[in-house]
Amino acid sequence: MSIEIIDHSYDVVVVGAGGAGLRATLGMTAAGLRTACITKVFPTRSHTVAAQGGIGAALGNMAEDNWRWHMYDTVKGSDWLGDQDAIEYMCRSAIPAVYELEHFGVPFSRTEDGRIYQRPFGGHMRNFGEAPVQRACAAADRTGHAILHTLYQQCLKHNAEFFVEYFALDLMMDSDGTCRGVVAWNLADGTLHRFRAHQTVLATGGYGRAYFSCTSAHTCTGDGNGMVARAGLPLQDMEFVQFHPTGIYGSGCLITEGARGEGGYLTNSAGERFMERYAPTAKDLASRDVVSRAMTVEIREGRGVGQGHDHIFLHLEHLGPEVLHLRLPGITETAKIFAGVDATRQPIPVLPTVHYNMGGIPTNYHGEVLRPTAKDPDAVCPGLMAIGEAACVSVHGANRLGTNSLLDIVVFGRAAALRAAETVKAGTAHKPLPKDAADLGLARLERLRTAKGGRKTAEIRLEMQRTMQNDAAVFRTAKTLAEGCAKMAEVAASLANIQLADSSLIWNSDLVEALELENLMACALTTIVSAEARKESRGAHAHEDFPNRDDATWMKHSLAWVAPDYKIRLDYRPVHAYTLTDEVEYIAPKARVY
Ligand SMILES: Cc1cc2nc3c(=O)[nH]c(=O)nc-3n(C[C@H](O)[C@H](O)[C@H](O)COP(=O)(O)OP(=O)(O)OC[C@H]3O[C@@H](n4cnc5c(N)ncnc54)[C@H](O)[C@@H]3O)c2cc1C
Repeated sequence: MSIEIIDHSYDVVVVGAGGAGLRATLGMTAAGLRTACITKVFPTRSHTVAAQGGIGAALGNMAEDNWRWHMYDTVKGSDWLGDQDAIEYMCRSAIPAVYELEHFGVPFSRTEDGRIYQRPFGGHMRNFGEAPVQRACAAADRTGHAILHTLYQQCLKHNAEFFVEYFALDLMMDSDGTCRGVVAWNLADGTLHRFRAHQTVLATGGYGRAYFSCTSAHTCTGDGNGMVARAGLPLQDMEFVQFHPTGIYGSGCLITEGARGEGGYLTNSAGERFMERYAPTAKDLASRDVVSRAMTVEIREGRGVGQGHDHIFLHLEHLGPEVLHLRLPGITETAKIFAGVDATRQPIPVLPTVHYNMGGIPTNYHGEVLRPTAKDPDAVCPGLMAIGEAACVSVHGANRLGTNSLLDIVVFGRAAALRAAETVKAGTAHKPLPKDAADLGLARLERLRTAKGGRKTAEIRLEMQRTMQNDAAVFRTAKTLAEGCAKMAEVAASLANIQLADSSLIWNSDLVEALELENLMACALTTIVSAEARKESRGAHAHEDFPNRDDATWMKHSLAWVAPDYKIRLDYRPVHAYTLTDEVEYIAPKARVY
């Protein structure tokens, strides 16, 4: 191909400018590493900006709290699929991480005496599961907005280098399996770029858009996951997809769990507060998978609200306009716009909606990407890191607790920066790139740009989204999963017939969407194939034919490799059933009740 390519050399390149990418960029730049941050959207438009409820840390500002209780809740929330060394690292680092954000300038809400305000959130309890505790540090209901803008300002203060509206296509891999950087396309002027780096950090976020109804932004298309899959590396625990209990019926826009944290509750068509039956202690503040399943059962058994008896009510009206105005201004506005409801007087119609991907690129707690081998399930892929929702550390296991993702992105963004500062010496010369290093990405761009099949990107995408929504849902059966796998194989095969309206390399959103669709396809297929294989129920994976958790057979991480023809190969690696230090004991599996 005779396309002109512009070359760049950096110590580190970070792909993604959400909370994870910005925290890593900040740390690496501050450590004196020459760091490039590449992002397909302007940094402060990343999905992190939409996070509402809060960031979890056992500060104990409202009542006694302890990071060990936070760790216990996270392990239990994960349904014992989380790696306890990483969970210990995150929960213990949470407290300094939040104070660090405060010092960076995040405008947290305050208590009367000036400390950071904390609200209750699902699954966060005191004293090893006794009763809800106020652990979510909040900036009203715009916590992600506050964090993302603050991190961006800190990056600017440190003169970090940004490449905005650059779309990363693929990794550049050496023949020995080392990652040497990334190939990117400048959306504005059509130029192509090779970024060489000693460490490449994927911070590309989740893949909610593999489903029809989700709370995530249109940009959440699992691009990093797609790049890793094409580089021949596995994705981990993809079957674990979180449904948030309270997406607005119809639009899927999120009403934060903080709404229930502030005292909101759910009712069915009989006006009953049904969560009291399903989770007598935590009630409406049980873990998300538990609440989403309870809602789905109520609807299935004919107790849904509305004309079609197909959704549930969330009540906030009893909280009064003052509390809503002070603590939940954003969602009051969202309810008005997307449900036409005045939340100070009427209940909000809600439905479980895809919200978060627990699975992703497997890493250790330093953010280093794993390339597991039979001999060493924790072997590392040199030169490659992954952080944030794109990664699977795994701190969320089979189900993430609310507030633990904003925490994950800052803690592991920071950890990746610390690791890079240890392993990369600033200014080290680069080895020459293999001649074909950029071929994978460039060939893909060229193939799609000139594709002349008969099917539009949007058509194929809709088929994928509907299949995933129907067959890899809140409840799954052997039948729906088997049908879903067969249907998804067909949908993936139809990518060969894609047709683009325009072959331009300048502001070609059709081409962007086709590239994103290939990434989503790798995510969707690994999700449904891993789900079909897992014959148990654990966390967000609720299998009706296998309703119990089966630790003897299934307490292990799924690994899924994607072949170029979209065939999926599965294998497994052990869960880290040990802690990082001896300051805390391993939490042995037990039944998960709230
Ligand atoms: C509506 C909503 C509310 C939430 N509320 C909370 C909450 O209150 N508390 C909590 O803990 N969690 C919450 N979450 C989850 C949490 O916000 C996300 O998991 C987290 O912010 C993800 O951050 P990230 O940095 O990994 O990715 P993102 O913020 O999604 O950023 C991804 C970045 O990657 C870039 N990128 C992607 N692909 C490419 C490519 N090919 N080339 C170049 N750049 C690319 C994008 O431009 C973007 O900058 C919420 C999520 C949603 C959707």
